Amino acid sequence: MDANIEAILYLISGVLFILSVRGLSSPETARTGNVLGMIGMGIAIIVTIVGLGEFTDPLTIGMIAGGIALGGGIGALLATRVPMTDMPQTVGMLNSFGGMSAVLVSVAAVLSPADFNIVDVATNAISMGSSIETSLGVIVGAITFSGSVIAAGKLQGVISGAPIVFKGQHPLNALLTIAALVMIGMFVVTGDATWFWAVTALAFLMGITLIIPIGGADMPVVIAILNSYSGFAGAIVGFTLGNTALIITGAMVGSSGAILSYIMCKAMNRSFISVMLGGFGGEVAEGAGGEVETRPVKQGNADDAAFVLKSAGSLIIVPGYGMAVAQAQHAIRELTDELQAKGVSVKFAIHPVAGRMPGHMNVLLAEANVSYDDVYELEDINSEFSQTDVVLVIGANDVTNPAAKTDPTSPIFGMPVLDVENAGTVLFIKRSLASGYAGIHNPLFFEDNTMMLFADAKKMVEDIVKAL
Ligand code: NDP
Repeated sequence: MDANIEAILYLISGVLFILSVRGLSSPETARTGNVLGMIGMGIAIIVTIVGLGEFTDPLTIGMIAGGIALGGGIGALLATRVPMTDMPQTVGMLNSFGGMSAVLVSVAAVLSPADFNIVDVATNAISMGSSIETSLGVIVGAITFSGSVIAAGKLQGVISGAPIVFKGQHPLNALLTIAALVMIGMFVVTGDATWFWAVTALAFLMGITLIIPIGGADMPVVIAILNSYSGFAGAIVGFTLGNTALIITGAMVGSSGAILSYIMCKAMNRSFISVMLGGFGGEVAEGAGGEVETRPVKQGNADDAAFVLKSAGSLIIVPGYGMAVAQAQHAIRELTDELQAKGVSVKFAIHPVAGRMPGHMNVLLAEANVSYDDVYELEDINSEFSQTDVVLVIGANDVTNPAAKTDPTSPIFGMPVLDVENAGTVLFIKRSLASGYAGIHNPLFFEDNTMMLFADAKKMVEDIVKAL
């Protein structure tokens, strides 16, 4: 293919990727954004394959076609099968594939530099620039791979979500980082591939040691960070392969992932450094939720809830992870319609880390056709709770926990939360007094203005609609 045409087509795919990311910034335009990204990626793949030149070797053609069919087939199957609640670990696994691709390309380049046109004619060995590129590609790729597998395993529950910490962990990580830098330096200076293999092995180990100390509650940030790493790994190998599309996409994934990590850190009031140093959150945070709760709570049923809601002038609904588990969004939409028809003002308050992935609640509410105008972000609605008659918390827990404001020993201390307790009455729909993701008790369940509605979220909301 003519180099100019190739460059123009790559540029078009780059523009489509930018429009795609722009589309993804709002649920209203997300679908179009996805389609634009798919077209951009389709163009990039076709141009790359055609740009490889004529190949008549049936093995090469078979491997490319087979790879596309196998990878595309598994991807399509997974996309239709994976429940929305398992999306974070799915994204984690996809990040790991990005990391492994970078490792494989870097390894291939070091094994046969001539095929990648990266041989220095003077020394007849891999050029210095390319040895830096391949070392960076392999280190970022391998850390992304093993780190993402651990993160996905933690989210899937295959590995304990609790932070795995041991004495001397931080010095060990620092030592491994210094060792890796020294090995890269030796590879670049001597050109001896043994250093490259050593850094590859070390990077896989570093992915594990960096992610195991991080607890479940920090996993959303970790997934976003690893997403960013996988993008940068792709951009680095884009240079090795001389592929403009890969450099553009990699840099975009890398920078958008980094921005998302920053937004997530801000939402949880955590610094990037403290997330990466780990040791936060888990299944049961020690001293905060380990003991059995025996305090009495005020309990109600669907009829009681319907009575409270009917007499309210204003209602704010706070959805959380339990709404996703119960798939209660359609029932909630029905409840909203019913109450709005009765003249009740209904708004939705979305915490940035409600559910198990960024935008989780927005996607589910959009799926149920809840009007975007009724959906508010934390900072836009938090001051309204004190003027609101009723708050209906549906399967949310951590994002309402006032311990984040009042208890400096709490693992979520400092995280901005929805101030639901300021409303006249707080109704909580959940199945028990069990803790949420951070593994800590929620003192709101025992407040005078709280009524607990113990049931599956979908069943309870449907019963309330019936009672209304
Ligand atoms: P939480 O995990 O704090 O609480 C969810 C609650 O839902 C549980 O206490 C559970 O109580 C209840 N629940 C579960 N299933 C059902 C059901 N079928 N019907 C009714 N209730 C149900 O969720 P939040 O959304 O409040 O907070 C999100 C947490 O997840 C935060 O700690 C956040 O840091 C973390 N996180 C967020 C990610 C993100 O990107 N958004 C990713 C990973 C983690 P019970 O068992 O009693 O029913």
